[in-house]
Amino acid sequence: MLSRWLAAMRWLLEWSEEACLHCGRTLVRARERRVGLCVGCLGRIAWVRPPTCARCGKPLRLTGVTCCADCRARPVPFVSSHGAAVYDGLWRELVWRFKFDRRRELARPLGVAMAEVAWRAGLPSRVHALVPVPVSAERLARRGFNQARDLAMVIAGETGVPLLEALVRTRRGRGAGPQSLRTARQRRRALRGAFVAWQPEVVRGLTLAVVDDVYTTGATMDEATRALLRAGAKEVFGLVAAVGVTDVDLASGGTE
Ligand SMILES: [Zn+2]
Ligand SMILES: [Zn+2]
Repeated sequence: MLSRWLAAMRWLLEWSEEACLHCGRTLVRARERRVGLCVGCLGRIAWVRPPTCARCGKPLRLTGVTCCADCRARPVPFVSSHGAAVYDGLWRELVWRFKFDRRRELARPLGVAMAEVAWRAGLPSRVHALVPVPVSAERLARRGFNQARDLAMVIAGETGVPLLEALVRTRRGRGAGPQSLRTARQRRRALRGAFVAWQPEVVRGLTLAVVDDVYTTGATMDEATRALLRAGAKEVFGLVAAVGVTDVDLASGGTE
């Protein structure tokens, strides 16, 4: 009787100890605990809501269009990409801390939100496997983990879609460096041919979802998709934690 009481107390203690991964506030509600963030922090995140670009998944700034200006100007090789929240404010900070402060536990809020997006887009029933974007060997050595793989692990746990590390980086260094320091065209050029499916026979005929942390110019998603299609994948979707806003649409607002 006493041991059962002690076990119950320990359970209660552990349960009540769970804290928001951002602000440390005690998590009470089921959703808070599943995501690992308190309602206050969840309320500060700019979740991606319709209308969104049918291709890249960024929020649309204009009405009456199905695609953003970027995707109208340049066809993408993937079917569609889906992001959980806008790369801004608290969400941007969480992505940053996850990657650069090596706070790997933050894969949970990011990954759970990505899994929710995947469910809404109907991906778990269509996709055979989740393919994380690989990082270069030197970045892996420096950071100690591949952030996309950590995210894919969480999504796999939430959706039951298996993880498949199908891609490898072909060149070291090129394409690395902060995205903000490169123009879209420079980034595209630097990343050309950066990935290859190391066992083409494994991905042949499969429908896959490429998993990455952030979608800004789309250069990484494009290249990862092309590598999988070259290896014989049937079709490819994208799944990211955060999407950048479409500056082009803001700049050209009202032209279409
Ligand atoms: Zn919080
Ligand atoms: Zn788009």
